[in-house]
Amino acid sequence: MEETSVRIMPLPNPTPLDDIPKIARELDATFLTNKTRDLAWRRVQLNRLYDFVQDNYSLLCEAMHKDLRKDLFTCGGDLDLTLSETAHCLTHLEEWAAPVPAKKTLFTLFDNNATIHDPLGVVLIIAPWNYPVMLLLAPMAAALAAGNCVVLKPSEVSTHTEALLLDLIPKTFDADTVRIVAGGVPVASALLAQKWDHIFYTGNETVGKIVMTAAAKHLTPVTLELGGKCPVYIHEDANIDVAAQRLAWGKLYNAGQTCIGPDYVLAHKSVLPRLIPALKKAVQNLYGENPHTSPDYGRVVSAGHMKRLTDIIDRQSALPHSQIISGGEYDHDSKYIAPYFVAGVQTTDPLMESELFGPLMGIVAVSSVDEALSIINSRAHPLCLYVVAESKAVVKKIQNSTRSGTISINDYLANMVLSDLPFGGVGASGFGSYHGRRGFLTFSHERARVWRSADAFSELCHKVAYPPLANTPWAL
Ligand code: NAD
Repeated sequence: MEETSVRIMPLPNPTPLDDIPKIARELDATFLTNKTRDLAWRRVQLNRLYDFVQDNYSLLCEAMHKDLRKDLFTCGGDLDLTLSETAHCLTHLEEWAAPVPAKKTLFTLFDNNATIHDPLGVVLIIAPWNYPVMLLLAPMAAALAAGNCVVLKPSEVSTHTEALLLDLIPKTFDADTVRIVAGGVPVASALLAQKWDHIFYTGNETVGKIVMTAAAKHLTPVTLELGGKCPVYIHEDANIDVAAQRLAWGKLYNAGQTCIGPDYVLAHKSVLPRLIPALKKAVQNLYGENPHTSPDYGRVVSAGHMKRLTDIIDRQSALPHSQIISGGEYDHDSKYIAPYFVAGVQTTDPLMESELFGPLMGIVAVSSVDEALSIINSRAHPLCLYVVAESKAVVKKIQNSTRSGTISINDYLANMVLSDLPFGGVGASGFGSYHGRRGFLTFSHERARVWRSADAFSELCHKVAYPPLANTPWAL
């Protein structure tokens, strides 16, 4: 994407800490007017959100290009998904919001019992920097569809996107229902000190624990969308050329800064002689001989993340058993890291220590599915587990012997864009989910409603429960 200077936003000042309790109180007051419960009101908000993304598509792309050098297709991962989630909410709003009648029994034959979907109230959405629009606004679509007021906290790390959102969101939504707050840890901490009706947090595990601890003080429910190391198992029967091309694409999309991106590979040792050259070729197919000059290859978000990633590269490259397939070069000034793929990796190596979240990937050779399973199961439950295999029996075995937020076979990243599938983690990769109806339910309270008539016939039925027992059929 061409760098334009259509609009260079000044970097935002953090929201004054004193404003934060006031924002929470004002939105609470709005919620109590009941106006957000009206489905027509929700439609207006969702349409505004849709138009907002569509009308500002190129400005948002420009901001993300400045933050992460995202190309147009990678920006689409942010913006088109926000649009499709919003459109999905608009299509299904009445259906999702409708009461679900309870099954009738003899005892409830004349009742009007149902599960109704109540909005929760005022919800706080805290987002990270890697998909800085989608991870903020796709949850917002679900929250608005469910009839809530929303406070948005974008990441301060993706500064240009934060600045643009801070400018545009207040011009798009009414201040009594949607507010956006800017800043880093002090602002996030002040937000967490308030009482919310739900906190939806996307980011790393350490902060996830901080969020949950703060929420516990108010018994506020939380959704934690966290990360971790997503493994790939490549079986001996895999179509290696296709596997390598898809793996390189899934790994290097957004320069490896994707929560569900493949993190490390467990490859059956028999495929390595074909996998290694195929991966090398795949990187060239996608980004040419020199990815530094490719307009489609992203950059690392910050100097801090550059330091973390280049440290890993230096330590891994120094190990004599590292077989470097590609990369090793980096440039701090332009925050560029060449795709760094290494074979011969051992499970205790730097590449295997913690979530990489960058264009780095280690390949560990395994002798069997069981060995792969024991490595996967010795680590935290991943957000996504990837299996590359033709054998259905192998896929089923892995599916039935592991836990992960998603299991994906012969594909990377598609689960991010499929509204009909739940998106969320398990164990250390988080809990709760969203996308499509799941998002609507996350931001709703499923409230039981028992509605019985008070007429004579109904009262006759009720009499069977009234003491004295001697007057009822229960008397011995
Ligand atoms: P980040 O640094 O932008 O932090 C995320 C948010 O947490 C920001 O808004 C930040 O202001 C806030 N924050 C930071 N410190 C805080 C504190 N002490 N108290 C309260 N809030 C605080 O982003 P990050 O955490 O580096 O994001 C990367 C991580 O997020 C990776 O682990 C990745 O896997 C995960 N992730 C998960 C998903 C998912 O959908 N499950 C999506 C994207 C990223």
